[in-house]
Amino acid sequence: MESGELHDRALALEEVLRDCALCPRSCRVDRVKGERGFCRSGHLPIVESYCAHHGEEPVLSGTRGSGTIFFGHCNLRCVFCQNHQISQPAGSLRRNEVSMERLAAIMLELQSLGCHNINFVSPSHFAAQIVRGVEIAASKGLCVPLVYNSNGYDSIQTLSLLEGIIDIYLPDLKYSDDRAALKYSKVKDYVRHARPAIVEMKRQVGDLVVDADGIAIKGLIIRHLVLPNDLAGSEESLRFIRDEVGEKTFISTMSQYFPTHKAGRYPLVSRPINPREYEKVMEWLDRSGLENGWVQDYSSKDYYCPDFEREQPFTP
Ligand code: SF4
Repeated sequence: MESGELHDRALALEEVLRDCALCPRSCRVDRVKGERGFCRSGHLPIVESYCAHHGEEPVLSGTRGSGTIFFGHCNLRCVFCQNHQISQPAGSLRRNEVSMERLAAIMLELQSLGCHNINFVSPSHFAAQIVRGVEIAASKGLCVPLVYNSNGYDSIQTLSLLEGIIDIYLPDLKYSDDRAALKYSKVKDYVRHARPAIVEMKRQVGDLVVDADGIAIKGLIIRHLVLPNDLAGSEESLRFIRDEVGEKTFISTMSQYFPTHKAGRYPLVSRPINPREYEKVMEWLDRSGLENGWVQDYSSKDYYCPDFEREQPFTP
């Protein structure tokens, strides 16, 4: 993208930040002035950590790792959040606020380490800051693909301003029932927003494309975490993906759920998934007609390859 266009997008997103509707919560607070809405985030981005991550899907981690930047806070409040120390901390994360220049420098540092991409984790409430950081980093040579690794609760308006900037969308599809989303993630309209957001992501980047080494360069990967008692509504979510996003969609089905954070207070999510629940989702996956992606092996939690050949580890 031309630098002038990138600059205009950053300005447009900063306008959204002044009356914040970066995500569907639409808190309408002026974050440029330091006001904070549901996500408890102000003007400057909060970077909790960054690293070359080797535990992402094989097409992202490759051999040199995915250049992962973990942002603090979140626009959801999942009672089972496995990153709750940084997404829902008891105290303030302001000490970890960084300037846009520093965010850009982190991107360039990860690229210089050889990372295959820059992977923004929990980006939805910092989309404006990310684009400003990308503008600075691009002027200094940032050129690897950019990954938007979100919980799926994204606004179409914000996504439209990311078109042509984000190369790879990596959203969750957490639920197929808003009642479950309200109870376990404290959001009343997750499904109503996440589904169209994913359709918009697909429109922008299409199905996953990899290079000659099997490394992702563009496209959509949907993550689906299997929850106990089928609270993720897996069968319906798989049907939605097949019918509304497309049969060729890459889906990453995860079995790694474990009860943490406040999950112990909610009986239906207070245990890991059991083998029968896992096998049921594998059956739905087989029947869905979705042929591309990975599943996590139930016992090892390692990723396995497309066509759901669960005996063979994925090799790019
Ligand atoms: S990004 Fe934060 S402040 Fe803005 S609408 Fe979403 S939750 Fe509210």
